[in-house]
Formats: sequence, structure tokens, C-alpha cells
Amino acid sequence: MLDDIKLIELPTVHRAYRWEREGGAARCGVCHQGCLIGEGEWGFCRVKVNLGGMLHTVVYGDIVSCESRPVEMKPFFHFHPGRSMMTLCGPSCNMRCPWCQNYRLSRAEPRPLKAKQVEMIDIVRAAEEAGDIGLCVSFTEPTLMLEYCMGLFREAGARKLACTFVSNGYFTSDALHMLARAGMNALNVDIKGSADVYRDYCQAPEGDIPAWNTVKNSLEMGLHVEVVHLAVTGLNDNQESFKEICRKHMEYAGADVPLHITAYRPAYEYDEPATSLEFLEWAYGAAKEAGILFPYLGNVPGHRFENTYCPGCGELLLERSEFSLERDLTDDWRCPSCGYALPVVC
Ligand code: SF4
Repeated sequence: MLDDIKLIELPTVHRAYRWEREGGAARCGVCHQGCLIGEGEWGFCRVKVNLGGMLHTVVYGDIVSCESRPVEMKPFFHFHPGRSMMTLCGPSCNMRCPWCQNYRLSRAEPRPLKAKQVEMIDIVRAAEEAGDIGLCVSFTEPTLMLEYCMGLFREAGARKLACTFVSNGYFTSDALHMLARAGMNALNVDIKGSADVYRDYCQAPEGDIPAWNTVKNSLEMGLHVEVVHLAVTGLNDNQESFKEICRKHMEYAGADVPLHITAYRPAYEYDEPATSLEFLEWAYGAAKEAGILFPYLGNVPGHRFENTYCPGCGELLLERSEFSLERDLTDDWRCPSCGYALPVVC
């Protein structure tokens, strides 16, 4: 085991942001795990360590995946439709969902002994060369890269690239404000289900669901937001649970914010069968009935409920197929039949 001094010298180790001294330990204020980390100890996420009384991250620039992908894969359906984003992540997560579809990345241990720090400008240039509209920090929980993302977003914003997160939304409003100040433009928030699901399955110890507050606060700050809900078989693929998701969506997000109802597939430590199409189609109708104007099905390639229909007259406006997009809208993103203005950022 390395001693503290040698760890501090490694290229992906950097002073952490947003923490306070509490007794002889450091209280991390980035996410709602709220870890109290004694000297020489690590946080729940395994990316924060207390070295000599100061909290540090060990994943500063430790990028384990980086490639250009369609925005529709995030999914963002109302944010630069048809474009692509340089999509990147670091290792680990601040939850432990047994069905995690990206578990090889989210359960990967940070590796400060081997990791190299990727230059921010290299990511920005790669995005420009690929013709991407911006960057998306995704696959694992992006707030675990808070320190690096602050610099990366400033660098990207200066080159007119959009900066986005796909997140579980379990971070504090302090962290949200820091990211917004650094230039974050859009956020996709994954809602896991009821408070019981967070506590019993994701190891996220909180009485209410902070992710909904992240949705509301982000919208109030002018960020573009979309919500994703993974309908996990045997857990939250029941009508009562989904109706509650819709009720909260209307309360915290509102009618215009897209709700992606995504099919679960067996992965990692959860082996129930994939979500039934019958439930997904029922959920789409229930979301509409609740007043959500733009529900979408996800992980059901080619399904008609992946498309955007005009809430005014029902016309097909955006047809999606395997992440390609056919558009039937006016130049200013209105329905050609009834003139309804589609709420998209582009
Ligand atoms: S980011 Fe969250 S999980 Fe990690 S140390 Fe801070 S409070 Fe704990």
C-alpha cells in the first residue's frame, strides 16, 4: 500500500472540491451519501480519500471510455436531435444498483497507480474533429468527476461545445450550482423508482428522493432536462409504482420534459426476464394520461413510441430508427400541420 505522500504525487490525484472538516475527519458534500471520511479512509464511491486531513479525488482525468455517440443514445431526444456528443466517463459509482447495465465501468475500481491524466484539450479537440455538438459525461456517475468536469466544461464552453451529464441526480445542490457555473447545459436524470428502491437496492440512504429535486433545481436554473426511468422487472414494473413516477414527474419536471421509459435487460446481479412490452406500452399510455406530453419508450428498437408526435394534432414529427432520425418539422421546429412549437434545444 502506498503511503499518503506518494499517492498525492500520482497524476490522477487532485485536491477534492466541496468538503468540510468535521471533527478529525472530512465530510464530503458532493452527493447525498454524505460520507464522513477519516484520515487514510475512502468514501463510499472509492474515488475520494482523506490524505493528511485533506480530501482528494483519485480519478482526476482518469477517463476509462471516450467515444462519439448519437445524442439519442444518451437518451436526449429534445437536445440537438440528430447530432452526436463525445461521450466519456471515469470509473466507479455512488450507488450499487444490482441491475446496472454499465456494471463493468461502474463497478471498476479506480486505479491511481496505473492511470494517466487525459488532457482536457485532447477531449475537446476529439469532439471538434468528430463534428460533435458537445460532451456528455455518462455511463457511470459523472459527479464523481466533479473536479475534472469543472475544468473540462470551461474548456469546452470556450470552444462553443455543449456540456452535459447523464446522472442518477443524487448530487447536492452545491455540486449542481458549481457545474452550472462551469457551463453545464443539459442533464439527463435517471429516476430509479420509489424511496424504498433507492434504499433497499441502490444503497442510497435517504428518506426522500433527491434526484427529483435535482430535476426541479436544474430546470429553474435554465438547464435542459430529460428524465429516464428504467422499468425493472419484479421491482418497479407495476402500475402503482409507475403512476407515482408520473405524478412526481408532473410535480417536479412538468408536462414538457421528456420521460424515457426504458426496458431493463438482465445484467450484473439481477436476472429477472426483460421488461414486458405489455407493461411498457401500458406505461406510455399512463404517462400520457397523467399529462406528460413527451413520453418515449427506450431499449425497444423500432417501436413507434420512440417517435415524437405532435401534442397538438398527433402528427409524426420525428421518426427514430436505430438512432437515425427523420424530421418532418418547419425550420423553426414547428409542426407543419398545426404550428405547435416543439420544445427542443438546437
Ligand atoms: S462523492 Fe458521494 S459517495 Fe463519494 S465520497 Fe463524496 S459523498 Fe461519498
